[in-house]
Parts: sequence; structure tokens; C-alpha cells
Amino acid sequence: MMETESSQREDDHLARLRERIDDLDHQLIELLARRQEIVEEVVALKKARQMPVCHPAREADLIDNRRACALQNGLEPEYVEELFRNIMRYSRSTQTAEISRVGVKPQARILIVGGGGAMGRLFARWFKASGYEVRILEREDWGRVAELCGGLDLALVSVPIADTAAIIKRLAPYLPGKCILADLTSIKGPTLAAMLEHFAGPVLGLHPMFGPDTPSLERQIVVVTPGREGLEDRWLAEQFAAWGGVVVRTTADEHDEIMAIVQALRHFATFTFGRFLYLRRVDLKRTLEFSSPIYRLELDMVGRLFAQDPELYSEIIFATPERLALVRDYLNSFQQNLELLEGNAVGRERFVSEFKAISAWFGAYSNQAIRESGYLINKLIERF
Ligand code: NAD
Repeated sequence: MMETESSQREDDHLARLRERIDDLDHQLIELLARRQEIVEEVVALKKARQMPVCHPAREADLIDNRRACALQNGLEPEYVEELFRNIMRYSRSTQTAEISRVGVKPQARILIVGGGGAMGRLFARWFKASGYEVRILEREDWGRVAELCGGLDLALVSVPIADTAAIIKRLAPYLPGKCILADLTSIKGPTLAAMLEHFAGPVLGLHPMFGPDTPSLERQIVVVTPGREGLEDRWLAEQFAAWGGVVVRTTADEHDEIMAIVQALRHFATFTFGRFLYLRRVDLKRTLEFSSPIYRLELDMVGRLFAQDPELYSEIIFATPERLALVRDYLNSFQQNLELLEGNAVGRERFVSEFKAISAWFGAYSNQAIRESGYLINKLIERF
């Protein structure tokens, strides 16, 4: 009895200590958020005065000061230095992202159709930060469309794929002749055709190869499929490059063919694997307890898909009859591989010889794949 009471007391004490740690952690996060707000004020001032992002002398002073403060508080200076270097690395990268937002054609007027959506909001923020005048046209704004299109330099269409062609047709008559008409749709062929059909001015297809939670355009790819483009319309692609993005130019046909593999087939295969796990009610947590880092990485990708918007993925996968045909081919190849498995010893020999042929075909890419996946795996092991 006594023993139970004392272990109950210990449990309560432990619970109270954990609550205090939780409370302190929340306070730390709130303080970091307040620190970041002030950093942003500093960035705005530096930007206005065209001062550089990082001031090494200020950083060195700050580290010395924090180390001394750590000693006074009975903490290891190394530990505190490491923490502050991390905090400063983060604030430096956000400063760089903010300050490098040079406007290639500042003051140009941009209309984002669907500007209240995820991608629309992202581009609106970036354009505004670079000095552009950004206007938004959402579902309820069509009554003001003529006013919103006055003196426009760029109309960027960022609406659900299925509505894009109809919205382009509705918008085009209001656009000034020299305004660039562009879209962000993940499928380029039909949208580019609709823009060219309904608008006689400059036309540009764009496909950002990233999602709306991307912190900056640094090293991100934007595929550009020109429809009707003059040299004077190049500022938009130049703006993406100025933001640190990588611009890849191609035709709408090649884009769509490659995206069928890069997006449609890959997402469908991921969906299929996730659905299979779901139908079998596999205990995901338990599998992870036994898992190799490779399985963990793979399951992360599956989990990531199911944490996102089903509409967006269905639009990509169901987009064209060619995509359905590609998935059918993929299914057939599964069937053939199954036949190898059913062929016992002979099948196994053939499996090995097929494997060798495919390895040879992958060639030098295999080395890159080992290097890159090795990097990811090591990062994963470090963290989890
Ligand atoms: P979203 O659903 O978040 O945004 C679409 C916006 O369009 C919404 O705000 C909606 O209200 C608006 N809209 C719908 N009908 C409209 C109408 N008739 N008039 C005006 N506005 C209307 O979608 P999203 O994820 O931002 O995607 C937008 C585009 O970007 C799509 O073409 C998509 O293919 C492309 N894209 C998305 C991603 C991504 O990861 N989300 C990546 C690359 C490209």
C-alpha cells in the first residue's frame, strides 16, 4: 500500500516536471518567434538602405556574448554557440531570400487569377516583395474584371486545372494587347492551346516544379513553355532567375510527356502502394520499428502524398487519356514481372539477367543515385 502511494507520488512529480519542460519549450518557441519578428524589421531596414545581409563582425560579437552568458548560467559555451549558430543560419537564409528579391520590371502590374489559392498566394507574396503591383481576381471578382485588367503587364492564371481553359477564354477579351498571358497549370498542352486560341498577345506556359510551402525560389525549377513570345516578354523568366530559380525551356508536348512519368505515373504508383497497405490494414508503426532507412524513406513519400490535397493529385493523374494508357502499360509490366516470379528457378535466373541488363542501362546514374540516397539516409538516421 505504502509502496503504491509513494510510486503514485513519484509519477505525479514526474508528470509535473514534464509539464514544466513543455511550458518552457513553448516559451522558447514564442521567444524565437518574437526574435524572428525583430529580424524581419532589421531586414526591411537593410533592404531600404541596400545594406548586405550578413555582417560577420556583428555575428562574431553575438557569439562571444552568448558564450559568456552561457558560462554565467552554468551552461556549456559550445552547446549554446551551436544553438545560436543554428538560429542565425535560419535568420540569414530568410534575409537572403528577402533581400535578393530584386524586381526585373518593378512597378509592372500583375493580375493573379485565383490569387487567393495556395500557389496564387505564394506568387503574389514574391511579386509584391519585389516591388510589383499585384491585383487578385477570385471567383467573386468577375464583376470588376475590366477594371482589374486595366494597364496590365502580366495576367497569371492559377486556378484548378479543370477550370483553366474556360477561365482563360473568359479573361482574354479584357487583356491589353501587350500584356503577357501565362498560367501555372501542371499540364501545358491544352492550356497553352486555349491561351493561343483566345488571346493574340504574348503567351507563356509556366509550370513551377514545387508546391506552395516552398520558402523561396532558390534552386527551384520553373518549366517555361513559350507559346507566343517576343524578346521584350523575357522579363518574367528573368525575374524567376533573379529570384534564384532555374528556368527550363521546352515545348508543351515534351513537358507533358515527361510529366506523365515524373508526376502522373509516380503519384499513381505511390497511391497504389499506400492503398495496398491500407487495404491490408498494415500496422505502419510496427513496420517502422523493424525498418531499414530505405523503407522509412519510401514510407515517408507515401505518407507525404496522403497528407496532401486529393483534388490536385487526381487532376494530375486523370489529366489525359495518354496518362491512363501509361498506367496500363505499367500494370502490364507488373504482370510480366509476376510471371518471372511464378517461373520458379527459371524465372529466378531470368530475374537476375533482367536485373543486370537494367543496371547496365541505368549506367552512371546509379552512382549518383547511391550518392544522393546515401546523403538522405544519413540525414534521416541523424534526425530520427
Ligand atoms: P487552389 O485550389 O489552392 O487555388 C485555386 C484558386 O482558384 C482558388 O483560390 C479558387 O478560389 C480560385 N478559382 C477557382 N475558380 C475560379 C474562377 N472562376 N475565377 C477566379 N478564381 C477561381 O489550387 P493551387 O494548388 O493553388 O493550384 C493552382 C494552379 O497551380 C493549378 O493549375 C495547379 O496545377 C498549379 N500548380 C499547383 C502546384 C501545387 O503543388 N499546389 C504545383 C505546381 C502547379
